[in-house]
Amino acid sequence: MRDAEFIRRWMLAMAEAVESEAKHLTDLDSAIGDADHGANLQRGFTAVAEALRAELPATPGAVLVLAGRQLISKVGGASGPLYGSLLRATGKALGDAAEADDAQLREALQAGVDAVVKLGGAQPGDKTMLDTLVPALAALADGYPAARAAAEKGAKDTIPLQARKGRASYLGERSIGHEDPGAASSALLITALAEVAA
Ligand code: ADP
Ligand code: MG
Ligand code: MG
Repeated sequence: MRDAEFIRRWMLAMAEAVESEAKHLTDLDSAIGDADHGANLQRGFTAVAEALRAELPATPGAVLVLAGRQLISKVGGASGPLYGSLLRATGKALGDAAEADDAQLREALQAGVDAVVKLGGAQPGDKTMLDTLVPALAALADGYPAARAAAEKGAKDTIPLQARKGRASYLGERSIGHEDPGAASSALLITALAEVAA
C-alpha cells in the first residue's frame, strides 16, 4: 500500500531530478520553444518540495492536490497548468483514503492523464508530454520498471515527430528532429515514481 509519505518521496525525488536536469530541459526547449522549461519546472517543483517539507497532508490524494496547486500557481508556462492538472486530478481520483494500492494509484494516474488531454487538447503523436505519459501508463500494468522504460522510450520517440500542440507547433516541420522538452520531463516524473516504488 502507498501512503502520503510515499507520494511525498515521489515529489521530492522529482524535485531533485528537475534540479539536476534543468539545464538539459532548457536546452531542449531552446531548440523548439522559448528556453524556459527547465526554469519553469525548477520554480514549480521547488515550491512543491518546500510545501511538502513544511507540511505532510494526511492522505496520498491530499499530497498530490497540494503539489498540483503549487505548480498551477507558481509556473507561468504551459507546463505549470498541465503538470498541475495531472497531479491534482490524480490526487482527486484517490479521494480521501489513507492509503492506495498500486492498482488504485494506476487508475488515479489515468484520471490525471485524462485531465491533461482535456486541458491541452493534445493526443499521443502531437509531440507533447502525453507521448511519454500515455505509453508509461499503459505499461504500468506490468509494473514500475516497465513504466519507466516506456516513458524513456516515449520521450525519445518524440524526436521524429512534428509538433501539433504548444509553442513548438509554431515551427511546423522545423520541430522535427528534436526531443520534446515536456516529454523529457515527464520521463523524469515516471522515473522518480519507479525509483521510490522500488
Ligand atoms: P511554454 O511552452 O509555455 O514555454 P514550457 O516550456 O514549460 O511552457 O512547457 C512546454 C511543454 O509543454 C512542451 O514541451 C509540451 O510537452 C507541453 N505542452 C505544451 N502544450 C501542450 C498541450 N496542449 N498538451 C500537452 N502538453 C503540452
Ligand atoms: Mg517553454
Ligand atoms: Mg514559456
